[in-house]
Amino acid sequence: MRAEFPDFRLGSVLATSFTATLTERHGDAVERIPTPQRLVDWLAVSGLAVDSCTTAQLELARTLRESIHAAATAAAIQDPPPVSAVRVINDRSIQGRAAAILTPESNREWRLSSASCVEDALGVIAADAISIIAGERDGRLALCASPTCRAVFFDTSQSRTRKWCDMNTCGNRQKKARFTANQRKTPDQRSDR
Ligand SMILES: [Zn+2]
Repeated sequence: MRAEFPDFRLGSVLATSFTATLTERHGDAVERIPTPQRLVDWLAVSGLAVDSCTTAQLELARTLRESIHAAATAAAIQDPPPVSAVRVINDRSIQGRAAAILTPESNREWRLSSASCVEDALGVIAADAISIIAGERDGRLALCASPTCRAVFFDTSQSRTRKWCDMNTCGNRQKKARFTANQRKTPDQRSDR
């Protein structure tokens, strides 16, 4: 049953993996968390497992997602973040009660106050967004070069010149389009990055 839902686009940065649950915002938008269960699935693969999610909690999550998208996009182009977006991010951060736990293997895990507390998980995501937008982490917020995407991503490459949110989708599509425009051979999909 789940196979009919769009896949997740997971990256190494929690906040921008979360904003990537809606893609092609300027084209044919793809909602990757269309149901509460899909948010449960996304949280599970993101280290924030909950056992259930209501429709209202899904709405909270999507509101947070779009607020992070708006604030991070503003940061990427050096604009001040929208006041309403900042309020949503802060509210979610304040209301989350997750605790960072150090495991015996020296990994960090998140412990939520209860297994059904989506709000705690959203608090962790909000705090992650804050640390990135505030410039606390090593990297640069940037917007995907694809005109139908314009997703915000966190560029941690050495040169800070990454152009696409995702090499396998947006990057590859742009490359193919350019290749086809330039010559009429079979596109070489796996050349340089
Ligand atoms: Zn993109």
